[in-house]
Amino acid sequence: EEEVLLREKERYELEKGRHIRELKRIRDEDGSRFNNFQILNHRYALLNLLGKGGFSEVYKAYDLVEYRYVACKLHGLNAQWSEEKKQSYIRHAIREYNIHKSLVHNHIVRLWDTFEIDHNTFCTVLEHCSGRDLDAVLKNTPILPEKEARIIIAQIFQGLVYLNKRLQKIIHYDLKPGNVLFDDVGVAKVTDFGLSKIVDDDAGSQGMELTSQGAGTYWYLPPECFELNKTPLISSKVDVWSAGVLLFQMLFGKRPFGHDQTQERILREDTIIRARKVEFPSKPTVSNEAKDFIRRCLTYNQAERPDVLTIAQDAYLSYAKR
Ligand code: ADP
Repeated sequence: EEEVLLREKERYELEKGRHIRELKRIRDEDGSRFNNFQILNHRYALLNLLGKGGFSEVYKAYDLVEYRYVACKLHGLNAQWSEEKKQSYIRHAIREYNIHKSLVHNHIVRLWDTFEIDHNTFCTVLEHCSGRDLDAVLKNTPILPEKEARIIIAQIFQGLVYLNKRLQKIIHYDLKPGNVLFDDVGVAKVTDFGLSKIVDDDAGSQGMELTSQGAGTYWYLPPECFELNKTPLISSKVDVWSAGVLLFQMLFGKRPFGHDQTQERILREDTIIRARKVEFPSKPTVSNEAKDFIRRCLTYNQAERPDVLTIAQDAYLSYAKR
C-alpha cells in the first residue's frame, strides 16, 4: 500500500513539474501578457480568452493548486442594471451553480469552484474543454460522418442517463450544439445548466409543472413546450427530442424544424414545430437506423415518445459505444 502511495506521490510530482514547465512555456511565448497576468483567488492564473457568452467571458486558466488547466467563466453584472435585475441574475446563477456543481460524469463538463471577484463580477471554474463546441464544429463542417455523429449522440445520452438516474432527476432543457463541448481527446461533454429543471420525486417521471415558460432555444424544443395557453407538463422527454434535433442536424446539415425561421416566428407560428412530422431530405444518404432513431426521438406526442432511460437502451446507441 505504501508503495502505491509513493508511486502516486511520484506521479504527482512529475505532473506538477510538467505543468510548471508548460506554464513557463506559455509565459515565454507571450511574455507581455504574462507580466500583467492576473491570478484569481490566489489560485487561477488567467491565460487567453476562449470565448464570450451572453453575460460572460471565458478564459483558459491554470489552476496552481491542482496543476491543471481550467476554464474560468467571468460573469459581469452590468453596472447599469437595476438592483432588482442584479439580484435576479445572481439568484439564477446560484441556482445554476447548485445544480451543476453536484454533477460528476465523464460526459458532463465539471464545475469545480466559484467565487466572487468584486462587487460586480464572479467567476465559475469549469473543466477545460480544449476542443471547439459542437456549434463551431458544425459551422465549419455542417454535415458530420454518420459514425462520428453516432458516437457524439451516444456520449450525450450517457450524460443524460446520468442526469436521470440521480435521486433528483435533472432535465437539461437547453441541449443545443453550443452546449456540447469537446475535450482534448474529442470526448463530448454537456454543459450550461442555466435552464435546467429539477424533477422532484413527487412529480415522478411522469412530468412536472413548469412554473415559468423558461426560454430555451426554440429550434430544439419539443411541441409540449409551446403549449402557451396552459402550463405544460414536461419531463426528460424534452431532452430526448432535443437530442433527436441535434442528431438530425449533424447528419443533414440543417435543423429539422424551422431551420430558416427566427426564434420569434417559431414561437408565434404554431405549425412550425407543432403538428409536424419529421421529413428527411433525400441527400445526404443516411442509414435507416439513424432515421428510425431520430423518428423515435422526434415523436410528436409526448406520451408516446420514449424517455431518456428507455431510448438509451436503443441498439443505435449501444453500437456506437463499442
Ligand atoms: P454563455 O452561456 O454565457 O453564453 P458560454 O458557456 O457559451 O457562455 O461560453 C462562451 C464561450 O466560451 C463558448 O462558446 C466556448 O467557446 C467557451 N467555453 C465555455 N465553457 C468552456 C469550457 N469549459 N472549456 C473551454 N471553453 C469554454
